[in-house]
Amino acid sequence: MSASVIDGKAIAAAVRARVAEGVREFAAENEGRVPGLATVLAGDDPASAIYVSSKRKLTEEAGMRSIHHQLATDAPPEELLALVESLGADPGVDGILVQLPLPAQHDQDAVIARIDPAKDVDGLTATSAGLLARGRPGLVPCTPRGIVELLRSADVELAGADAVIVGRSILVGRPLSALLLNEDATVTVCHSRTVDLGSVCRRADVLVAAVGSPRLIGAEMVKPGAAVIDVGTNRTDDGLVGDVDFDSVRALAGAITPVPGGVGPMTIAMLLDNTLRAARGRHSWDERPAPLLRSGRRPV
Ligand code: NAP
Repeated sequence: MSASVIDGKAIAAAVRARVAEGVREFAAENEGRVPGLATVLAGDDPASAIYVSSKRKLTEEAGMRSIHHQLATDAPPEELLALVESLGADPGVDGILVQLPLPAQHDQDAVIARIDPAKDVDGLTATSAGLLARGRPGLVPCTPRGIVELLRSADVELAGADAVIVGRSILVGRPLSALLLNEDATVTVCHSRTVDLGSVCRRADVLVAAVGSPRLIGAEMVKPGAAVIDVGTNRTDDGLVGDVDFDSVRALAGAITPVPGGVGPMTIAMLLDNTLRAARGRHSWDERPAPLLRSGRRPV
């Protein structure tokens, strides 16, 4: 048996086409105004610069406005905090993306805390994380959303599935655990202190590797027929490789994502979709407390 390879590039292209259609509808309903995504890049990390430039290109291809802010590597923390705050107040900005990681002088949590939750297209604020943890509508981090879309596209049954996620970052593992739980999967999250990772992974119907360790997951750790999602992007002498040993795992899995061409393209597609959602304001109007009346009471 050889796994079907989930074509993240094609699925992401279909999502982007759907977003572009939504942008046209949005513009028609809003006197030609299109959603705007602000990107903030602090410093000159080459990989981050490439990510931001492809996000900007695809934002424009989807018919949205890209607004970019570049900060010097040694920009003081106050400058970044003030910029993020001003983007929150800017009516032309619907989504705010601060590219991580940040140079050492910045406090990542403090920067995220300044992002207006209504524009939190990366889904990283405490508000977004809280809504997701409670299973309520909100802006969900792009990579985990993309992973669920990939699983759906491959017709993987999630309700009742044993799902194992390797990695517990706020960007991937933690939000994905909430999403899969909301899909009625039985979820286990592994990390560097997990005892006998192989035996935990081997019971997974859905196995997601988000570690950053080249080919950590070998065939001996995979249940035959499992759906295997490889989030890892590791630059090695052999080029870009995932956290899964693709060739050996492909031979026994039911479905598998390649690296590159799997999760990566979906992350950007979901960013565009989140920006459109934020612009529509759909994600939070029924969740956000209504503004206080002058009397200090909330309207009913
Ligand atoms: P991260 O913040 O570095 O977290 C890595 C996680 O892996 C941690 O929870 C860590 O455990 C766990 N871990 C490390 N070694 C382990 C081991 N031997 N066994 C089990 N768990 C182990 O990483 P991240 O931001 O989630 O990213 C993970 C990978 O995905 C990276 O390669 C990154 O480049 C890639 N990525 C790709 C995309 C995309 O769009 N394709 C998006 C995001 C990330 P502890 O918590 O105990 O330290």
